[in-house]
Amino acid sequence: MSSAGHIDHAHRHSRQVRFGPVGAEGQRRLGAGRVVIVGCGALGTASAMAVLRAGVGSGGGFLRLVDRDLPEASNLPRQMLFDEADVAAGIPKAAAARRRLEAIDSSARIEAVVADLTAGNASEILSGADVIVDGTDNFEARFLINEWSCRAGVPWVHGGAIGSEGRVMTIVPGRTACLRCLVPEPPAAGSLPTCDTAGIIGPAAFVVGAVQAAETMKLLVDGPAAVRSVLLAFDLWEGRWRSVDLSPLAAAGCPTCRAGDSPWLEGRLGGRATVLCGRDAVQVASATSARADLASIAERLRPAGRVTVNDWLVRAEVEPGILLSIFADGRAIVQGTRDESRARAMLARYVGS
Ligand SMILES: [Zn+2]
Repeated sequence: MSSAGHIDHAHRHSRQVRFGPVGAEGQRRLGAGRVVIVGCGALGTASAMAVLRAGVGSGGGFLRLVDRDLPEASNLPRQMLFDEADVAAGIPKAAAARRRLEAIDSSARIEAVVADLTAGNASEILSGADVIVDGTDNFEARFLINEWSCRAGVPWVHGGAIGSEGRVMTIVPGRTACLRCLVPEPPAAGSLPTCDTAGIIGPAAFVVGAVQAAETMKLLVDGPAAVRSVLLAFDLWEGRWRSVDLSPLAAAGCPTCRAGDSPWLEGRLGGRATVLCGRDAVQVASATSARADLASIAERLRPAGRVTVNDWLVRAEVEPGILLSIFADGRAIVQGTRDESRARAMLARYVGS
């Protein structure tokens, strides 16, 4: 019996049960809810904290945390489940997050999966979910989730945050617009800012995580029929909030949500990582056919480290011992590691591909 076994769950959740739309039956559904959170960064830790505290996984359901990375000091301002000891110990984020959440609710079933979501393991990782939450930092993972979710008919909650801005979009296959309806093709490598080049403030991520958690609770309590096709976007620094009606996009649909087209899931598109023979380096193939804009990539990498640029590539030492080279065709080489997942994480972090 756990040390917290004496805590009365009816009492613990009494304020939430008193909230009319939840009630006792809603609370039961939350406890039985099966939620997979992909990515345990700022969004993933915020949403995991909120749904766990709401009771998800404590009544027959589960909370599954998936992440490929380790926590580092620069994560601590916004990744709320980690502390200095986790950074020093080098515990994977998914495992560190599970340990922290188990201390909050010892009755919840929490699974930690230390892995990079790929076409090969997507089914294994996402199966069994009632709701999938996007805590990722790259479009490849999001497109994989979108395609899997459209095929399986499982709702997912897309989220993103950068600077002081955030956005959330709940996708219910067959009912709302999907990610591909909104973003027909992933942006070219380096064409968008990332948190590591443009920066981010913690509260922007906390708000996105909180909205994602609320969307997850609504899906578990009321079911997918209650979801509207909207994109919520805000800028905390400017104090601007807007809700964009996506029902025209939903009505039109796209090859993925209409016909199950799944180029990422089937491996026809995607960043293919290969450890380079005889070198301490990994090559990652381009995730898109668009050509990279080297000048703008160089500009955005400048705050991260020393950058050199020529006609063929941009090169930057983004972390001690880690050298990124991004080629005009979108291909990249990450020197200083032989770990494919780490190389892809570095690219997602600094180049946003
Ligand atoms: Zn679609």
